[in-house]
Amino acid sequence: MSTAFRDIDTQLVHSGERIVDGAVCVPVFQSATFVSRRGDSYHAARYARLSNTPNHDVLHAKLAAIEGGEAALVTASGMAAITTSLLTFLKTGDHLLLQDCLYGGTHGFVTHELPALGIAYDFIDATDEGSWQRLLRPTTRAVYVESMTNPLLGIADLPGVVRFARAHGLLTMIDNTFASPVNFRPLDLGFDLSLHSATKYLNGHDDIAAGCAIGRAEHVERIRQRLNHLGGSLDAHACFLLNRGLVTLALRVRQQNATALRLARFLEGHPAVERVLYPGLESHPQHARALSLFQGYGGVLALEVRGDEAEAAAVLERLRIALVAPSLGGVHTLVMRPAKVSHAALTAEERARLGIGDRLIRVSVGIESADEVCADFAQALAGR
Ligand SMILES: *Cc1c(COP(=O)(O)O)cnc(C)c1O
Repeated sequence: MSTAFRDIDTQLVHSGERIVDGAVCVPVFQSATFVSRRGDSYHAARYARLSNTPNHDVLHAKLAAIEGGEAALVTASGMAAITTSLLTFLKTGDHLLLQDCLYGGTHGFVTHELPALGIAYDFIDATDEGSWQRLLRPTTRAVYVESMTNPLLGIADLPGVVRFARAHGLLTMIDNTFASPVNFRPLDLGFDLSLHSATKYLNGHDDIAAGCAIGRAEHVERIRQRLNHLGGSLDAHACFLLNRGLVTLALRVRQQNATALRLARFLEGHPAVERVLYPGLESHPQHARALSLFQGYGGVLALEVRGDEAEAAAVLERLRIALVAPSLGGVHTLVMRPAKVSHAALTAEERARLGIGDRLIRVSVGIESADEVCADFAQALAGR
């Protein structure tokens, strides 16, 4: 076990690390199986799918340290972490409460897969405590929320969710991808389990898919056993890359916080922009909540351009630094139109009800120069 380091900047470099044969960086253990040690039981067998190779061990200790959990588990994607966790704590006959504006993949899994397993669910307005009370059933087992919603960056009453769940003995799960451990530590607030798409900020380089679950040792061990059966484990080379990406997490996220705030302020004052949604802006409906819960507001913002749908499409085409692609949280500035990508499966009416119009553009700022990113948007918006 490594020494406990106090600050996230130090933890990201040192927690879980070990010196192997003098190497400052833990090498890739590109081996599917490991020789048994004398006296090892069957359960101590080390094998790639069982998430217990040296490359997994480093990550588990580091991820647990940075979010203040007892244990962590890495998975082959964010969706592997989410689905494996839900399937660990829910069984036939159980009921689940979920925030109503979920990540598309999670929404799809819940609505398409849970009914066949006999698991019931209800969507709640996580800003309205009364709505959860009304939907509580004797079979309710868990509440599932996200630290910020996509793409409108809404922030639920997270302390209220924890209070409600505790009062009724429910497990609390939060997808903390959008905040990242640099800006928010949900376990400190009392959440039982924090889940991430490590494809986003944690790895941060837009080059691998990965996920993780962080929480109490007993919970993480149960998820690990389920993952061993379902098979969504992360391979050694992706573990190595994720660990390499994590080292710079705090530097990247602080820069992304600063650039996103600057871009949001610039866009809010721009005549071609109708509205900007970013929790760091005073105009954001949950700005006060964001200020009290988060250390920073993250790298994602949304803007609605004036004009018609064609104008929104034209702005994307004119951007030179920002690339038109899904995903977020990485070193590249990425833009996309939620109505055409993440929320394309919804009807136009459903999108309108959620506030996701055809002129809405989501931006995830990278680590390029803030000056140049703002200038890129200035020329793209002026091109009209
Ligand atoms: C991307 C994302 C996921 C899914 O993660 P993958 O790594 O793509 O499987 C889940 N939740 C949120 C909030 C995300 O942004």
